[in-house]
Amino acid sequence: MNQADTEIITSLLEDEGYVMTESDDSADLVILNTCAVRENAVEKIMNMLDNLRGKRRLRPDMLIGVIGCVPQYYREKMFSMTDGIDFLAGPDTYRQLPLLIENAEQGIRGANLAFSPEETYDGIEPARTGSISAFVPVMRGCNNRCAFCVVPFTRGKERSRPMKSVIDEVEQLAAKGYREITLLGQNVNSYFDHGAGCGFAELLERAARAARDVRIRFTTSHPKDISETLARAIAAHANICNTVHLPVQSGSTRMLKLMNRGHSREEYLEKIAMIRRSVPGVTISTDLIAGFCGETEEDHQDTLSLMEEVRFDFSYMFYYSVRPGTYAAKNLPDDVPEEVKKRRLEEIIALQNRISGERHAAEIGNLLEVLAESESKRSREMLMGRTCTNRVVVFDRDGNEPGGLVAVRITSSTSATLIGRPE
Ligand code: SF4
Repeated sequence: MNQADTEIITSLLEDEGYVMTESDDSADLVILNTCAVRENAVEKIMNMLDNLRGKRRLRPDMLIGVIGCVPQYYREKMFSMTDGIDFLAGPDTYRQLPLLIENAEQGIRGANLAFSPEETYDGIEPARTGSISAFVPVMRGCNNRCAFCVVPFTRGKERSRPMKSVIDEVEQLAAKGYREITLLGQNVNSYFDHGAGCGFAELLERAARAARDVRIRFTTSHPKDISETLARAIAAHANICNTVHLPVQSGSTRMLKLMNRGHSREEYLEKIAMIRRSVPGVTISTDLIAGFCGETEEDHQDTLSLMEEVRFDFSYMFYYSVRPGTYAAKNLPDDVPEEVKKRRLEEIIALQNRISGERHAAEIGNLLEVLAESESKRSREMLMGRTCTNRVVVFDRDGNEPGGLVAVRITSSTSATLIGRPE
């Protein structure tokens, strides 16, 4: 979402005459677009600011802004940093950036961290950096209140872009030759255009029809909201990618309740079964947190057994750390010792690596359609791309170029990558 926001901000500033530089060494204006989800977000920004302050000694006119979720969430801390920051803006106030920058040029330090219940940045054509894959935000914010999560505090309430404007953008991207579009939202299942009476499943189908030669992806879904209608929509269109990211966080119903996730282990498993029934060959990924407040060894074992049962293709895995201001920070003691959290996380990672490795090994010998995204980091003679099931494939270049769809025979695999050659 931050990457998509950066494209919106770049577009806003290009309209004001700014031009993107290759590096901050030659920039008159440096904007740090920040994420507050991970631990030590403020410390990371401080380190970057230290580095930029050094550069400003050589270029005294350089302006520095910090925007996004960190100033929105840690506003007092950020306000108190008088040295080095010229302006602050939150996720809903990017349209005010030209004014904040103009004031900063006159030496007036400013901040705009207001929430806007309507702001979706509709009508701004993002300045996209790539030419193969594009993000299209369809909704912003989240009305859920997961006990550990800062998103409702940083990005505010849910709001959706008009369906027509999303579809117009999808059509334009297809006409420009983009090969893959990801519809983005904190909780895409909550998308709803009240004027058009259009929910997310319909939006997804319309996007698929508007760009038949383009792969359509979406993220992120919430287990309690994902519906059979959506799963059927995925199955009904060849160009909607057969992959669902469905964060579960824990395999223990007791922990899910403490996390305020709104579903049980059994309900999650029912959703997985429904998705697999509806979408043959679908891959499923998830998010997992080790060591949330009050997690016992039994709860942890429930997470491991859920992983064994679902056999996720991929997981984002973390151990829990407190985010100030959240329900968990205020009401639930962070009582799992750090070494226990780390050990549980290691067990989760080891299990996921084994399962991913097995699932990848099962693809050896298969002929898969791969959208080539870029040269491989290791060699110009190899390309890297993804299958529509979101598996990463590295393959011999054989005259192919990024942007092309390539039939690749899988010859070997690791837990992270499939390796093959074009046929
Ligand atoms: S649904 Fe996702 S974004 Fe919303 S509060 Fe829960 S974890 Fe955060």
